[in-house]
This record gives sequence, C-alpha cells and structure tokens, in this order.
Amino acid sequence: MHDVNLAVARAQEEMRAWSSAASARAAAMTAWADALEADVDRLADLIVGEVGKIRAEAHREVLLSADALRYNAGEARRLDGRAGRLDDSSLAFVERVPVGVTAFIVPWNTPVLLLVRDLAPALAAGVTAVVKPSPLAPLSIEHTIRLGRDAGVPPDVVQVLHGDARTGAHLVSHPTVRAVAFTGSVEVGRAVLRAAAADFTRVLLELGGKGVSVIHHDADIDVAVRESVRGACFTSGQMCMAVTRVLAERSIFEEVVGAVVEHTRAVTVGDPRDPATDMGPLITNAHQARVQDYVELARREARVLCGGDPPADLDGPYLRPAVITGVRPESRLVQEEIFGPVLMVEPFDGDTEAVALANASPFGLTASIWTRDLDRAWRVGRQIDTGTVWINRFGGLYAEVPFGGMKSSGLGRTRGSEGLRQFTDVRVLNWRPA
Ligand code: NAD
Repeated sequence: MHDVNLAVARAQEEMRAWSSAASARAAAMTAWADALEADVDRLADLIVGEVGKIRAEAHREVLLSADALRYNAGEARRLDGRAGRLDDSSLAFVERVPVGVTAFIVPWNTPVLLLVRDLAPALAAGVTAVVKPSPLAPLSIEHTIRLGRDAGVPPDVVQVLHGDARTGAHLVSHPTVRAVAFTGSVEVGRAVLRAAAADFTRVLLELGGKGVSVIHHDADIDVAVRESVRGACFTSGQMCMAVTRVLAERSIFEEVVGAVVEHTRAVTVGDPRDPATDMGPLITNAHQARVQDYVELARREARVLCGGDPPADLDGPYLRPAVITGVRPESRLVQEEIFGPVLMVEPFDGDTEAVALANASPFGLTASIWTRDLDRAWRVGRQIDTGTVWINRFGGLYAEVPFGGMKSSGLGRTRGSEGLRQFTDVRVLNWRPA
C-alpha cells in the first residue's frame, strides 16, 4: 500500500511538467521507439523466456510496440480542441486536457505490446503512469521501461510497481488515480469496473475474446484455413483475438474440417527458441490442466478430431492443438474463453445463420470473414457484433486503427485517435467579452 501511495504521489507531482511539454514528450517517445528497435533481440529473448511464445512472435511484439510509440509521438504535438462564438456573443473554448494519473494493469500473454499500445497514446495525451505488470511476466516490461528512461522519459512519468491482484486493486481504488487502462480477464475486468465506481475513475477495459472465422463457399479455402489455424495457435492460443471457432458453410464443411485437421496436425510444438517451432508451451501447468479440462468436456459432449494431449517427448506445459466438431452453441466450449490451442469447426446454412452463430457467445472482440463476394462481406460483416471484423485476413493490428471489444470483451477503444481521447478530459471555457 505504501508503495502504491508513493508511486501515485510522484506521478501526480510530475503531471504539470510532463503535460505542458509536448515537444519533449514527442522527442522522448521517438527515442524510446529507437531504443526498442535497437534492443529488439534482447527484449524478444526476455518475452520468449517468460511467456513461452515463439521468437518470431516476440520479435513482432517489440516492433509493433516501437511503432505505437512512433505514431503517438506525432500525436503528442497535435492541437486538439475547438472554439466558436455563440448566439449571445460569448465565446466557447473546448479544450482537451490530460485525464490525470493513470494506472496500467497488464496481463502476461503479450506483456510489452499490451502495455505500450495503451501507454503510448496516454503519454501523448500528457498523462503520467503507474504500471502493474502480471507477476507471470514482469521482466520484459521492466526492461522496456528502463529503455524508456534511458531515452529521456523522466523516471516519475512512467513507474513500475510489481505485485499481485492486491497491488492492482489498491492502484485502481486510489483516489488520485483518475483512469485505469486494464487488459485481462472478464472477471477481473468486472472487479476493476466496480472498484473504479467509488471515485468515478475512468476505465478502459480490454478483456477476453472468442474469435470466429467465417468461411463462405466462395472463399479461398486454403488461405482461410491456413490463417485460421495460425490464428488458433498464435501464442499457443493464449490471445484475446485468437481464432477459437471456424464457421464453415455447409457445402464446404467436410472439406474445411479435413483441411483444418491437416494444417493443425502439421503444427510443430516444441521449444520456443527453436526456429523450427510453430507453437511453444502454455504459460503454467495449472493453465495446461484447465485447457485439458475443456478438451475432456469436448470428448464427452462433442468430437475431438485431433490433439488436446501433451506431446510425450516434451517436458513442460505443452499441448498439441485440438480440433473439435459437433459442439452446440450453448455449450461452455462456445460460451467461455478457453485461452488455449483449441479450435472448433461448426457448419452453417446461409448468411443469417452465420451471423447468429458468430454472435452466439458473450464476447465481441474479433472476427474474420472469408469470401470473394464483397457484397456478402459487407452485409455479413456489418452484422457481426465484434469491435474488429477482418475481411479475407486475420490479425491486422495498427497503431492508427482503433481496437477493442463489444459486449463482454470490454469498454472503450485502444489505438488510433479513439485510443488517445480515452486519456483526455474536456474543459470548456465560456467567456462573455465585456
Ligand atoms: P487477469 O485478469 O488474471 O490479470 C490481468 C492483470 O490484472 C494482472 O496484472 C493481475 O495481476 C491484475 N489483477 C488481478 N486481479 C486484480 C484486481 N482485483 N484488481 C486489479 N488488478 C488485478 O488476466 P491474465 O490471466 O493475466 O491474462 C489473460 C486474459 O487477458 C484473458 O482473458 C485474455 O483474453 C485477456 N486479454 C485481453 C486482451 C485485449 O486486448 N482485449 C489482450 C490480451 C489478453
């Protein structure tokens, strides 16, 4: 508690100087981006070591983080606000001001990028930050923040506080903390929202997902299946935006199931440091057991076509990716986030059923549609209740494009101008000249 109070007090103290020096903010953020790029190998090694994702994914995570800083460094100098004369001859100035000290609470699965995608727009907006990493992945964040300091970000502008749920909860309920950027599970997201209610603290919630991939009969089936399986196995399926359900039009259902099984069986599970590996381990033994419980449920109430068991030759929380058919939409397999390499394939007849199935879970983060018919892509895409709908692709993420969830996947948007406004408040000055 003492650490939380001290960090928040220091962050508050730094607010005025940091928020009033846009050029200095932009320069420090650009230098930080340079430093991340220069140190990408070491940082990627740290991420691989603590998360277990493969090196190529860790590498991309660092480069996307550098890009977020670079993009938002430009945004730091943008003048935002408006002014106008009103009917009674008074003048109104509408200005955007930084929301205040902000807490960043980060999960373990993509630690550096999930911090920086929110932190970069927040720093551009002029806020100061207290960061709480997951106890499962503290080192890469610690190193990232050290690089920021060396690049010129003042130490009290971005502080890191290590700790567990209690540290996070103290931060959220600290009255000086005016906003919380939380990425994590739905249950903890709910607790954060409840705690934030006490002082009306602003919340950005980026929560779980249940990504769907809707494959129509006229799609390039090979590409659609390959990308869907990649999306299911990325970071061992421990991604909010992972593909968890492939919905295939009935006329191509058997073909899609066959191709999904073939591509899934070809995934090489192993040491994430080995360049030949496609998928590393899960984060812990406990999480492996949790994912296997879902596979057992699928064995009882549906059909497991391949995978779902640990490879005999590997020591650690490894799991072969699983493909499942015959699930009912009301099953826990569809309604809950599994957060592992488990992919269901379900048939649909016509666009209406495709939309109903895609919207059947409480989550609303991401979806992909695969079709050569642009009218269909537009029609179906606009009815899917997810914050992002990709057409003929999976996984496009850009610093300038907003990202976030509908329904239980969250509140607010990260990235883009929406991501920056999240960290501002509005002050109106209304002046009647004498
Ligand atoms: P988690 O919710 O268990 O923990 C996230 C963070 O919150 C950790 O730092 C944890 O220490 C902290 N925390 C725990 N209890 C708290 C409390 N009461 N108050 C404040 N902080 C608290 O999540 P996790 O297991 O680390 O990460 C996996 C989850 O994150 C999945 O549900 C996944 O879908 C989600 N996620 C979402 C996105 C997105 O962009 N929407 C991205 C990645 C991960």
